[in-house]
Amino acid sequence: MRRIIFATGNEGKMKEIREILSDLDAEVVSMKAAGIQTEIVENGLTFEENAIIKAKTICEMTGEIVLADDSGLEIDYLDKEPGIYSARYMGEDTSYHVKNANLIQRLNGVPDEQRTARFVCAIAAAFPDGTVKTVRAAMEGRIGYEEKGENGFGYDPIFYLPEYGCTSAQLSMEEKNKISHRGKALRAIKDELR
Ligand code: IMP
Repeated sequence: MRRIIFATGNEGKMKEIREILSDLDAEVVSMKAAGIQTEIVENGLTFEENAIIKAKTICEMTGEIVLADDSGLEIDYLDKEPGIYSARYMGEDTSYHVKNANLIQRLNGVPDEQRTARFVCAIAAAFPDGTVKTVRAAMEGRIGYEEKGENGFGYDPIFYLPEYGCTSAQLSMEEKNKISHRGKALRAIKDELR
């Protein structure tokens, strides 16, 4: 069975990734499980560029097929902030409770129809022959007026999904995987790997 490395140190993501890629004829391992320890500078200007930087770096180090993702929240009213800086917004160590409160404050007085936002996920696949493929997917929603829900992580408690009448933090992991940016991008890259 071939092996694919997913360039993430996040075990929560690995669980989701393994579940979605489980029907691929490949063993999907994390960087840690593959014994790789390295700091990658994500200095790309788009989600795709950052995913490619991560996937290519590890592919060149290992000679194996490598997948990497980059994701974030785009808020239309804030010119698509925090975007590729979502994890770094207000500092990596600032709690999401504080980041979420700040974003709600910045949208103070902004009506529903102008609170549109999306989670975006780009995934890159780097192959040992130098080929790279990328896919992008999004989940559309709106920024809510207060945090709601305990599931998920990051900006999920303020990401309201009008057609579900709840935030993405109020969905179960299975429900979120079906409609999320990462779930959709993983299913798209799976087709590229077949
Ligand atoms: P990265 O792709 O691991 O660099 O993460 C990007 C950042 O985007 C995360 O740290 C979160 O702040 C945000 N983000 C990406 N996907 C989600 C999601 O599904 N829910 C909540 N926040 C997310």
